[in-house]
Amino acid sequence: MEWLDPDDAEYDAARRVWNAMHDRRPARIARCHETADVVAALRFARTAGLEISVRGGGHNVAGTALADGAVMIDLSPMRQVTVDPRRRVAYAQGGCLLADLDTATAAHGLVCPTGIISQTGLGGLALGGGYGWLSRRWGLTCDHILAAEVVLADGSVVMASPDSHPELLWALRGGGGNFGVVTRFTLRLREATRVTCRTGVWDLDRAPDALEAYRTFTGKLSPDLHVGGGFKVAGAYPGRDGWLPDRLRGRTVLSLTAVWFGPPEQAADAVAPLHEAVPPAATTGRVTTHVELQTMGDHERPAGNRYYTKSTYLDDLTAPVVEECLATARGIPSPLSSVQLEFLRGAVADIPEEDSAFPGRSAPYIYTVSSQWTDPASDRTHIDWTRDAVARLAPYSHGGAYVNYLQDEPHGKVAEVYGAARLARLAAVKATYDPDNVFHLNQNIPPAAADD
Ligand SMILES: Cc1cc2nc3c(=O)[nH]c(=O)nc-3n(C[C@H](O)[C@H](O)[C@H](O)COP(=O)(O)OP(=O)(O)OC[C@H]3O[C@@H](n4cnc5c(N)ncnc54)[C@H](O)[C@@H]3O)c2cc1C
Repeated sequence: MEWLDPDDAEYDAARRVWNAMHDRRPARIARCHETADVVAALRFARTAGLEISVRGGGHNVAGTALADGAVMIDLSPMRQVTVDPRRRVAYAQGGCLLADLDTATAAHGLVCPTGIISQTGLGGLALGGGYGWLSRRWGLTCDHILAAEVVLADGSVVMASPDSHPELLWALRGGGGNFGVVTRFTLRLREATRVTCRTGVWDLDRAPDALEAYRTFTGKLSPDLHVGGGFKVAGAYPGRDGWLPDRLRGRTVLSLTAVWFGPPEQAADAVAPLHEAVPPAATTGRVTTHVELQTMGDHERPAGNRYYTKSTYLDDLTAPVVEECLATARGIPSPLSSVQLEFLRGAVADIPEEDSAFPGRSAPYIYTVSSQWTDPASDRTHIDWTRDAVARLAPYSHGGAYVNYLQDEPHGKVAEVYGAARLARLAAVKATYDPDNVFHLNQNIPPAAADD
C-alpha cells in the first residue's frame, strides 16, 4: 500500500478525477494494490474518524470518488482481469477500467456488456447499472455480476454470491457503492460477435421526421440492434470525423448510430428502414470488433474538461418531446456538448425486476444532456442550459433517473430513483452491512432505523 499525503509529489495527480469541476483535497490517498490494502485503509480512516471515499475509475460526473478532508481509497492500481474461457467468467479487480475488461475478454472471443467509453471505471458503472451497446441484447453490466468480493465497513471481507450473502449481491446489482468496497467482480461473459456500425447525420430541419422514423423503427427493433445518438455539433471533436462533408462541419446536427450484432451481411437490411424513411445528409459505416466499438467515442469525452450532466427517462418520442429537444439543441452553448437519446428495452426490460436492485427497467428511452467546456468562468451558462434541457421534458418523463448520472440533485432524488419498496429493501441491506453509513460519499442510501 502506498499512502499519499498533501505534501507528496504525486498527490496532485492522484487526486485528479475525470471531471475538472471537482477540485477537492482529500486528507490522504490510499493507493491500494490488493484487498488487504483496502482493509488497512478503511481501518485507518475509521480509527482516525475520517470520512471515506472510494475511487474506481474516477469517472463519476458528480466526482463522488473525491472529498475534502476524507481518506480516498484509490483502487486505480487494482486493474487485473483474468478470464476463465471454459466457464465464460471474468474476474476483474475493483479498479478496472472498461478497456481492461474488454482487452482481456476479447483475447478469448468473449465480452461483458458495459458502457460506451472505454476509460470509464467498471466499479462505479457496474454497481449503478451499466448501459451500453449490448444492453438490449444481454442486459446491464450489473446483470452480469455473478459474485463479488467485498470489504465491508467493519473491515471484514466477504464473498457475495447466490449462496453466500445473497441480499448483498442483490443490492450490489444497482444499489451503487453503498455497501462496501468491491475488490473483485466475478462477471458472466457472452460470445463476442463481429459488429457492424452505421451512422447517419441529418440537418436540424430534417430531425423531426428522422426522429419520427426512429420512433417507428424502435417499435420493431431486433435485440441485435441498438440505435443511439442525438444532437451534437458536427466535426467538433478532432479525430474520427473525416467522412463528414464540409457543409455540415460546425453545424448542430442529429446523429444516430446503429450497431448491429447479427451477421454483417444482414446489417444493411436491418438499418435500411431507418435510413430509407428519411435519408441522412451523410452516412458512414464499417464492420469492426467489439474492442474498437468500445473506444469509438473516447475522443469525445477527454479527461480534464469541465462536465455537467443531467438525465431522465422518457415514455415516448412524441412530436412535443422532439420540439423541446430541438429547442435545447438550437441553444447548445458549447460545440463539445451534446444531447443524447437512446431506445432501451430488449433484455434490459426482460430481466426480472427481483434479480437486482436496479430501478428503471421499464423505461423506453433514456435522455441525457451532457455539457462539456473548459473555461470555469462560463460554468453558469452550461449548468443552466443542462438543467433547463431536462426541466423542459419533465411533463414527458417516465419517472426516475439513472443513478450513475445524478449530479447535485435535490434532497430526496435518490429515494425517488429507487422507489419506496426497493429503497426499503436496500436500506435494510445497508443496516446489516454498513449500519454506521461509513460509505456515504456516494448516491447515498441511509441504513434503515432499527424500528423500520
Ligand atoms: C465519459 C463517461 C461515459 C459514461 N458512459 C456510460 C455508459 O455508457 N453507460 C453507463 O451506464 N454509464 C456511463 N457513465 C456513467 C458511469 O457509469 C459512472 O460515472 C460511474 O460512476 C463511473 O464509475 P467509476 O468507477 O469510474 O467512478 P468513480 O468516480 O471512481 O466512483 C464513483 C462512485 O462509485 C463507487 N465505486 C466505484 N468503484 C467502486 C468499487 N470498486 N467498490 C465500491 N464502490 C465503488 C463509489 O461509491 C464512488 O463514489 C459514463 C460516465 C462518463 C464520465
